[in-house]
Amino acid sequence: MKVLVAVKRSVDANVKVRVKSDYSGVDLSNVKMSMNPFDEIAVEEAVRLKEAGIVSEVIAVSCGVAQCQETLRTALAIGADRAVHIESSEELQPLAVAKLLKAIVDKEQPSLVILGKQAIDDDSNQTGQMLAALAGLPQATFASKVVVADGKATVSREVDGGTETLSLKLPAVVTTDLRLNEPRYVTLPNIMKAKKKPLETLRPEDLGVDVTPRLRTLKVREPSKRSAGVKVADVKTLVEKLKAEAKVL
Ligand code: AMP
Repeated sequence: MKVLVAVKRSVDANVKVRVKSDYSGVDLSNVKMSMNPFDEIAVEEAVRLKEAGIVSEVIAVSCGVAQCQETLRTALAIGADRAVHIESSEELQPLAVAKLLKAIVDKEQPSLVILGKQAIDDDSNQTGQMLAALAGLPQATFASKVVVADGKATVSREVDGGTETLSLKLPAVVTTDLRLNEPRYVTLPNIMKAKKKPLETLRPEDLGVDVTPRLRTLKVREPSKRSAGVKVADVKTLVEKLKAEAKVL
């Protein structure tokens, strides 16, 4: 059984990004880039399935600029077996990525595709859902537990007010939430081993996918500053303030 994992190169989670002075986007020059944190969880889950003997091969895929290969090497160091880089210097929006991943799904025929629930740069939370729709596969988003057995994935997913459990017939698409697992640290010997693992490079044209952006960014602005809050002594004072000042009661 093969598992395909989508990994995005995105701004490191610890970086405080700045909006460019012309409001055209976020300034990414000299900014540390890393694997999207939800994708680390996705790779970890796939590798754990392999270590449990349920999966035979883990393939990591990344779409984007040449440096995505660094992200793929990290996935290989965590334990993926091989990697596919779909190289493009275009801005790749979720629909374009979903189409590229669909082409790889058609080619590789994985039993399970694991993606992050969202990329922390665009926060779109769209690619997994779009891929499932394009490929005609069942999906379970925001997974906090995945059990694979008897041609099915039983997925506990985080929903408002608790957890929902879904049973999906494989092949299926799963997107990860934070509580699914805690990704391992990559060790130096594994980083060295990862350098020798196979990494294939393709271009969107090789897959017959048009990645032209469909959405145009008009302006990117910092959120307006919030004024400082106040502490109230007790519930009575809070209710009075909500009535008299905020006028919401
Ligand atoms: P998004 O819909 O942009 O929030 O991304 C959701 C998930 O889709 C990410 O966590 C990745 O697993 C996957 N994904 C998005 N963009 C890419 C990309 N350029 N390359 C590989 N995977 C991606």
